[in-house]
Amino acid sequence: MRDTLKRTTALIVLIVAFCAGVGYLVFGICTNGGKWATERVNSHIYSNGTTSTSGAILDRNGAVLVTSKDGERIYNSSRGVRMSTLHIVGDTSGFISTGTQSLYRTKLSGYNIVEGIYGILNREGKTSNITLNIDSEACRVAYNAFGEYNGAIAVYNYKTGELLCSVSKPSYDVNDVPPNLLRSEYYEGVFLDKTISGIYTPGSVMKIVTAISALQNIPDIESQTFDCDGEYEIGNGSVICFEVHNHVDFEGALNNSCNFSFADITLQLGAKKLLATAEALGFNKQLYSGDVPLKKSIFRPSDSDRVELGWAGIGQSTTLLNPSHMLGIVGAIANGGKGLAPNRVKSFSTFFGQYSPVANTWFTIDSGIAAKMKELMRSDVINRYGEYKFPDLEFCAKTGTAQLDDADSHSWLAGFSARADLPLAVVCIAENGGFGSGPATTVTNEVMQYFLDVYTK
Ligand SMILES: [Zn+2]
Repeated sequence: MRDTLKRTTALIVLIVAFCAGVGYLVFGICTNGGKWATERVNSHIYSNGTTSTSGAILDRNGAVLVTSKDGERIYNSSRGVRMSTLHIVGDTSGFISTGTQSLYRTKLSGYNIVEGIYGILNREGKTSNITLNIDSEACRVAYNAFGEYNGAIAVYNYKTGELLCSVSKPSYDVNDVPPNLLRSEYYEGVFLDKTISGIYTPGSVMKIVTAISALQNIPDIESQTFDCDGEYEIGNGSVICFEVHNHVDFEGALNNSCNFSFADITLQLGAKKLLATAEALGFNKQLYSGDVPLKKSIFRPSDSDRVELGWAGIGQSTTLLNPSHMLGIVGAIANGGKGLAPNRVKSFSTFFGQYSPVANTWFTIDSGIAAKMKELMRSDVINRYGEYKFPDLEFCAKTGTAQLDDADSHSWLAGFSARADLPLAVVCIAENGGFGSGPATTVTNEVMQYFLDVYTK
């Protein structure tokens, strides 16, 4: 009797252990199967470590950016398109980890939970394609507009989250890889998509965040005035303006990007309130643009050093900003307060049918404050930058110059069109573009004019 009990117990333990093992295996296959099957050691999918059999990547207009033929990856026939979409499409070897070929390799391989990679091996042509929201012609226009400058630009539809244009420079031609790619200083960081993995000192585009915080926390901010004499003294230090702006109100302070006024506003706010606004807008947080993790923007203001706090409020100090994150912030202002994440993928096929991802919401700001910021950024263009620089765009913007200790400043622009038929926001950074926002303004306008032509006529 005791023997029977022992055997029964042992059997039950074995059955439970077996079921747990099977469960663990099934769970593993469900969650990681695609990743395991598409590891680079799988010679069915890769030859010499590069993707040989994989689905096509198309842009929003059906242009084929890359596809497979006879076990080879074939890229778009235009060198300009290949160069400008390099970081979005990715390379065949996976050096560009945020490229679509790398991020979505499981989907592109045609792997599915029911058939595994059987579908890929036995049904030639049954790999899955991915259609992007990207307009490759817009990318080509943007890339050319950068001229000699390096940098990044991203344009998206702030109402839908569709990422229409995303370019990172320097780039190279995958069909004609430069022999000095890994050695030349020019190509340093070439595998990083700066729109996603770049962080820069924001300079005055940070005043957008400080202005939002002021509207949230300082009740009489719109009736305050400031008397800029070019230097805002704080204890034994100061924050410098590069011009003397004299008597300005809040709007005039933003129009002229007056450091004096914004240092004053920052000290009125204090580190805690400014940080609360910044964090509610995604600073110090891991943001995802669909499946794409962004490099975190960093903001660490402190009340212990008032001079440093003053500089932090105008985007200098230790503050670092990711371009795609900034796109979401201006997108929120344009979109009545709702900041959508930029969304690269339009659709892809799965075993169960076609799937279209929806853009996630990063943050929301009060709609009244969004409307006020929109008005102020429109006023920046009308009263300071000049309508003629952005013809027919009803453009709203804030420019910035990120001062660097050891090189020419980076020029920034963050803005959007207020036209109902052109709901697009844009962020552009031209590295070492020098003072003022010259090159960032030029690149932005050229790309926006392309969209104006294509999408509103
Ligand atoms: Zn000033």
